[in-house]
Order: sequence, then structure tokens, then C-alpha cells
Amino acid sequence: MTPLPSEVDVVVIGAGSAGIAAGRRLAAAAGISFVVLEARERAGGRTWTIEKNDYPLDLGGEWLHSADRNVLSKIAQEHGFALYHRRPDWTTRLSNRGASLAEQEDWIGARRAYQAARHRAASEAEDRACSTALPPGGRWNTLLNAISTWGNAVELDQISVKDNDRYEDSGVNWRVCRGYGTFLATLAAPLPVAYGAPVSRIDHRGRDIVIDCARGRVQAHKVIITVPTNVLASEAVEFDPLLPAKLDAANGLPLGLANKLFLSFTGRMDDLDPEGDIFLVGSTTRLQTMNYQARPFGRPIIQCFFGGEFAAGLERDGGLPAMAAFASDELAALRGNAIRRELTPLAASSWRADPFACGSYSYARPGHADDRAVLAAPVDDRLFFAGEATSLNFFSTVHGAYETGLRAAAQALKIPGR
Ligand SMILES: Cc1cc2nc3c(=O)[nH]c(=O)nc-3n(C[C@H](O)[C@H](O)[C@H](O)COP(=O)(O)OP(=O)(O)OC[C@H]3O[C@@H](n4cnc5c(N)ncnc54)[C@H](O)[C@@H]3O)c2cc1C
Repeated sequence: MTPLPSEVDVVVIGAGSAGIAAGRRLAAAAGISFVVLEARERAGGRTWTIEKNDYPLDLGGEWLHSADRNVLSKIAQEHGFALYHRRPDWTTRLSNRGASLAEQEDWIGARRAYQAARHRAASEAEDRACSTALPPGGRWNTLLNAISTWGNAVELDQISVKDNDRYEDSGVNWRVCRGYGTFLATLAAPLPVAYGAPVSRIDHRGRDIVIDCARGRVQAHKVIITVPTNVLASEAVEFDPLLPAKLDAANGLPLGLANKLFLSFTGRMDDLDPEGDIFLVGSTTRLQTMNYQARPFGRPIIQCFFGGEFAAGLERDGGLPAMAAFASDELAALRGNAIRRELTPLAASSWRADPFACGSYSYARPGHADDRAVLAAPVDDRLFFAGEATSLNFFSTVHGAYETGLRAAAQALKIPGR
């Protein structure tokens, strides 16, 4: 167990992807003393792998998005983590749920048209909600909105079109065979992380910054803050003096909700693909629906993914049994009733109730696209902010968070201390 030092050069708050990146960068710099204060008893934050039936399950971050540009792809391989390169067809293959080729083409055309309309809207002077880029009465609007609850963790009428358009996606998506969370935990292992140390107060009135956490008090010259925006907005971490601009920015960049449910699956779906890794959309006409991945990596599992208000209701009112009942009904409607006997609930996430996340990933409210830069800006050259919400182009991702941790550590190192 890392003891709590009384004084260091730099305190990093949070051992998620951003905090781990900052810690690794500081560790590589000669002669810098630092500690990472982490509220939980584990590293990784919203990237967390658990094991069930001997299989690793990523309850949070899973995909190396933009894998060909993703800073973590190379680091994973350097650390001996095998990557799985099979390309996902998340929502492009509606034929998996019985749609005709013509319908599928119509859907793909509608999606392309929406993306172009969103891009045009983003170039206008005034920011507005993504939903305004939907064609009125469009046949596929509900599916586009459901996809938003998975990709953005919130419905389209809540999201800034300018921010959404700034997200960069190379379209290449890989996975870590042993789990993204396992990989991040491996990166964190050599770092001086003090676990079980939720920070409650950052007093930056004096020459030294005084940080209070559940395990005691630490003084530092600089602090890197990586906690999620919903934690900042809840004022669970008190700043003295207050930082109203940061609070406003955190409120403009809330975390939406996306959750996962894992079912063990003794069936096969060989008619769709004997190799597994089959993506199924529950419904194209209901917003209350899940996205399924059957036999990921060929493993006997179905992974269910769902977001937005629908996910919030299931998490709040029913938890795992309600999630599993919904998924079984939807899968039975798609594949026939016999599938019910082939499914057993294994695990589910509940990111909204998690006190150190309070949600899944950030989106910008309409009119708040520039809040990411506001949140990212250092204060007095000694408080530095990182975390996925401070990424201007890779927000809501593990690699985006990692890059912001590197940025914050470089800022902290470049500026001379007292
Ligand atoms: C269901 C789900 C699926 C996802 N899928 C993907 C995906 O496939 N690919 C992808 O790239 N991204 C995905 N993401 C998003 C990705 O997981 C996050 O964007 C990323 O992990 C955020 O990293 P972070 O360092 O910014 O924040 P976090 O991981 O939240 O790290 C912040 C850390 O701060 C700690 N903390 C909080 N409060 C305090 C406090 N008061 N004191 C001390 N410590 C504190 C937390 O415990 C946490 O460890 C997914 C997320 C979820 C929830």
C-alpha cells in the first residue's frame, strides 16, 4: 500500500486513464516527487475489466477507437497485450435482424445524410442540438437517436452539434483480448497510487497547495485534476478559492449514461456467423432498445449495450434482473423463444450510481462546445485539468483521456515550481 506522503511536487487526482498517463509521464521525468490519489481501491476508473466464467468483461471502456491513431494501441502491444483487429459492424448490418438489402441501403443512406446535415449545421454561427439535423418525420430518426444513446450516452436533442462534429473517428476499432481495464491496471501497477483516498478539498490560497483526502493531508506545488465532470459539478471536491469557470464548464459537459449487461450464452447463431462477433440492433423503431454483441471474440457470451434515459430507468428501477428480462424479451423477439433457455445473467454495470463517476462519458450541451477548452485551461500555472471531457477531439474515450493526462503532466513539468 502506497503511504501518503506529507509533501510532493505534484499530486495527481484520479487513477483513471488520464491520471495513469499523467503518472507515467511524471515518473519518466527525473527528480519529480508525486503521488496519485485515487478514491477507489483500484485503478482504471471508467475502464474496468472483471472476470466471469474465466472470461474478461469490460464493464466500461472496451474499444480502442481510432485504433490506428490511438496512443494506447502501441503501448498495449509493447506491454504484451494482444489486440483483436476484427472490424465491428455495429449498426451497419441490419440484415442480421432480418432487414432486406434495400432497407439496409436506405438506412445507410439516411445515416450518411444525417451526418452531412450535422456537419453543415456545425459550421453555422449559432450552436444547436444535433436533433435539429434530423429530417422531419424521417423513417430512421428513432434508430439514429438510439445510436446516439449508445455512442454519446444521451439523446440527440441534448447534444451540441458543434461539439459532436469535432469528434475525430478514423473508423478503425480494435479490442484488447484480456480487457482494456486489465491493460490500464497494468500500466498503473508501478505508479505510486494511494488508493481509498477520495479528495474532498483543494486549498490553493497559499504558496503550497493543500489537498485533503480521506487518508489525510498532502501539500504540493502543483495538482493535476482528472475527476469526471459530474464529480466536479457535484462539488464533491471543494476548491478554495472557488473556480466558477470550471464549475460552469463541468455543468456544460455532463456525463450521459451508457450501461452494459453480460449474459452467458450457450447457443451459437451460426446462420449469421459461425465465428461469432455478431452485432444485432434490438429495434429500429423504439428508442428503448439495446445493441447486442453475440459471441464476442467467439466467447459464449452476449454483451448488451444501452444508453440514455432508457438506461437510466433500467439502472434506477430494476438493475440487473430488469436489464436481463428486457434483453431476453428483445432477443427472443429477434431469434425465437428458445434463446431464453440459452441465456444466464452474468454481470451488469451501473455507472450512474457509481459515486466516483456518476455517469459514463461526457457530451456538450447545445451552446457549450467550447467548454472543453475552458475546462482544460490551467489555473495560475499550478492547477491542471485532464480527463476525457477536456479532450477537444477524442472526448468520451480512453485514449482521449490518456492524451489529456500527458498534456497536463507536460504543462506541470514545463512550468518551474516555486
Ligand atoms: C459503459 C461504457 C463504455 C465505454 N466504452 C468505451 C470504449 O469502448 N472505448 C473508449 O475509448 N471509451 C469508452 N468509454 C469511455 C471511457 O471509459 C472513458 O472516457 C475514460 O475511461 C475516462 O477516463 P478518465 O481518466 O477521463 O476518467 P475516469 O476513468 O473516470 O478516471 C477518473 C478517476 O478519478 C477518480 N475519482 C473520482 N472522484 C475522486 C476524488 N474525489 N478523489 C480521488 N479520485 C477520484 C475515479 O475513481 C477515477 O478512477 C466507455 C465508458 C463506459 C462507462
